[in-house]
Amino acid sequence: GHTENHDIYLDSDLPSHIQLPPKETRANATLVFLCRNDDLSGVVSTIQQVEDRFNRKFGYPWVLLNDEPFTDYFKGRVSVLTDAPMTFGLVPREHWVQPDWIDESKAESARRMMRMQGVVYGDSVSYRNMCRFNSGFFFKHELLQPFRYYWRVEPGIKLYCDLDYDPFVFMEKNKKTYGFTITFDEIPKTVPTLWDSVKEFIQEHPEYIDKNNAMDYLSEDHGMTWNLCHFWSNFEIADMDFWRGEAYQAFFDFLEAKGGFYYERWGDAPVHSIAAALFQPKDRIHFFSDIGYRHDPFQHCPRGYAEWQRGKCACDRHDTFDYAGQSCLWRFEDLFYMERRNETGA
Ligand code: GDP
Ligand code: MN
Repeated sequence: GHTENHDIYLDSDLPSHIQLPPKETRANATLVFLCRNDDLSGVVSTIQQVEDRFNRKFGYPWVLLNDEPFTDYFKGRVSVLTDAPMTFGLVPREHWVQPDWIDESKAESARRMMRMQGVVYGDSVSYRNMCRFNSGFFFKHELLQPFRYYWRVEPGIKLYCDLDYDPFVFMEKNKKTYGFTITFDEIPKTVPTLWDSVKEFIQEHPEYIDKNNAMDYLSEDHGMTWNLCHFWSNFEIADMDFWRGEAYQAFFDFLEAKGGFYYERWGDAPVHSIAAALFQPKDRIHFFSDIGYRHDPFQHCPRGYAEWQRGKCACDRHDTFDYAGQSCLWRFEDLFYMERRNETGA
């Protein structure tokens, strides 16, 4: 059961000296944090930074999720960090553990193979559970039902700049569904048959592919092969209604039935990215260039001087992953440059 899903703070408990924007100018949004009791120091550091750089001025609620109950010590250390509402939720078992119909001996030999090949988390079952949960289930959690937009965070990230506007309201006003800061290529050994499955799904469900999709970000040959580009999902500001929608639900069910979350090591990042790129117009995806962000070992720092100065950014603006060798940002940007070129006839 969900015995520990309860409100710690209610909105009305906020100290009177805190002036938040009026409710009607805010979006229906929350901060989402999947983590373990052992992640405590990284969790504290992340929440402190998100509060200092952004949420102190906006007061969006926090939802923390765990596949095991959070300890009272954990909850105490974390809830002291903010006046914003904060709830702690338990992930239901059926959203987390390896399904019974997965052939464990096949999954086990895949894990052994990846361990021998030195693939990161190659032999981990819990990592696979986490990737599957983030792909298909987090937005179904009862604590997230009231919300549409979310900002996903992870332990030990860095938020380098002040965010002086509301990114959720930005998403809503501009009809964005998926926001990212870093994009690069996936480890091929974790996804040997993912693209074949995607192509099979496209054949079965051409109706879900938007005519203004971002396939050219994912592929150099219009979909024959995947270039492994994806958005790094440890940062996401996105719209859960997209994941809850018909196309994504059909897509997740299709991938789930292939067993690739366990027979390979499909990540939530490529799964989310492929869906975001194909099932909607490409301009629904937004690069948050003004959000300075680090998740080891990569970071994005605003390059433009004005943007960097406005955000009082604590990062070196020349130290940014944007156009590093492995980055896929230029492919994403080319989606729009080409369009502009065609429009101007240049
Ligand atoms: P990496 O960023 O790919 O190296 O993966 P992480 O270890 O950071 O995991 C991704 C996110 O899932 C982080 O927010 C972790 O705290 C969380 N996470 C990973 N494994 C588990 C787990 O077994 N249980 C819980 N509750 N959270 C997990
Ligand atoms: Mn991480």
